[in-house]
Amino acid sequence: MISTVPYHVCLMIQIMLIIFHGLLYTHNITVIGTGYVGLVSGAGFAELGHQVLCADIDTQKIEQLKQGIIPIYEPGLDALVAKNIATGLLSFTNDVQNAVLKNDILFIAVGTPMSDEGKADLQYVYNVVDTIGKSIKNTHKIIVTKSTVPVNTGKEIRSMLEKEYSIPPHLFSVVSNPEFLREGSAVEDFLNPDRIVLGADNTQALSIIKEIYQPLLDKGSILITTNLQTSELIKYAANAMLALKLTFINQIANLADKVSADTKIIAQGIGSDKRIGYYFLNAGPGYGGSCFPKDTQALWYIAHQHNVPLEIVKATIIANEYQKTVPVQKLKKLFKKKDVSGNLRGKKIAILGLAFKGNTDDIRYSPAITIIEQLLLEGAIVTAYDEAAIKNMKALFPDILYFDCPYEAVKNSDAIIIATEWESFKSLDFDYIATLVKTKIIIDARNIIDPQILKGAGFFGDAIGQTYNYN
Ligand code: NAD
Repeated sequence: MISTVPYHVCLMIQIMLIIFHGLLYTHNITVIGTGYVGLVSGAGFAELGHQVLCADIDTQKIEQLKQGIIPIYEPGLDALVAKNIATGLLSFTNDVQNAVLKNDILFIAVGTPMSDEGKADLQYVYNVVDTIGKSIKNTHKIIVTKSTVPVNTGKEIRSMLEKEYSIPPHLFSVVSNPEFLREGSAVEDFLNPDRIVLGADNTQALSIIKEIYQPLLDKGSILITTNLQTSELIKYAANAMLALKLTFINQIANLADKVSADTKIIAQGIGSDKRIGYYFLNAGPGYGGSCFPKDTQALWYIAHQHNVPLEIVKATIIANEYQKTVPVQKLKKLFKKKDVSGNLRGKKIAILGLAFKGNTDDIRYSPAITIIEQLLLEGAIVTAYDEAAIKNMKALFPDILYFDCPYEAVKNSDAIIIATEWESFKSLDFDYIATLVKTKIIIDARNIIDPQILKGAGFFGDAIGQTYNYN
């Protein structure tokens, strides 16, 4: 007999099933640390339908967030946060202890900066573990490290909670879930990740964290599940590999400079080989940012601790430090050609771009820092412009001259250095800039301006690993 259930009843059942499925797979989450990773992850989890409480000890940051003010520059983040505050799925607190008590899934997303010895400084992570240790009562907690942490940190967290806080082992699980988002495209990366890596000491906890990401897995992201140590090492290996690739092309660029070869064409020539790929083959002034410098150092430190020679990573770190000095070396060479001495004393140098890359306000380990330090050391007068990072750089170099407009920054300058690949720099009017500067000398350390345009405007200049014939 053919079923006679009316269409609207079927539809109702279907809608109820979807709601039930949603309720079943949504979770209450606390994210601890609302920096570049914690804030994007918190807002991202809310976007996936979870109820998220973001906690941070920085009261000013939390006050701003409660008012809908985003403390960092990250495209699309303001809209994502505003939307999820409005739906009631995202909220903020500076009461970290209460946030730990409130929810049973705890994502740790605090900073793990480089210590003086080069290893990861885990004091912020362990502060959070301390809060968790004092807060676990009778309900089971899943502690997820989203911060980049050295191999064995997950095990160490377990051992601390059991030994120092006498928490029974069955009352908590530890999961490693490294984050791979990139500043500048963090929202897009979080909501469309290439892969989600989960390492755990407990399969049930792993299944729950997997459920959190189910909507992303349904869209096609790859899931990699493994043990804690493997997951922790994946993150360091990924960042070291990227740093290494970038450093490789930078070193090839330095050679290309000497033999009049063109690195952009070399990148095409090698990138078209599928085994190599095009990504991360843009030569420049070295990598910076909050991840590659500290993570390569930390990986090298871990390997050293285990008596494993990871010299390829050490070489990358050394080569990158050298690369950051290349733009000023090139500038001095150009000055030498122009006025014999090559002396930078009293010369006014305009830096276009301060952030470690475009689309972010993050200046941590930015090549621009090394460039400014070198220039100041040589007695130059530095003027600077950046789309988003002036406030952060001012805290580091309060005495250089900052401008809100690139054309103002370059006025009467003896030379320009392009230090960040902001998209807007590509459409600067160099014919007009040529009328503003004192001397038409430019170092395009990001290789982003068409050399013909610079040459056409009468500039005398150089880039990194390009066959520019205007110097
Ligand atoms: P961040 O410095 O921007 O933010 C860290 C936040 O943690 C700050 O707001 C700080 O106030 C807060 N915090 C510190 N101690 C706290 C505590 N005890 N309780 C609550 N909050 C506390 O750091 P980030 O760039 O977001 O990086 C966080 C982690 O993610 C690091 O381990 C980093 O290596 C990793 N990571 C970063 C990126 C990136 O692009 N920034 C990408 C992938 C992974």
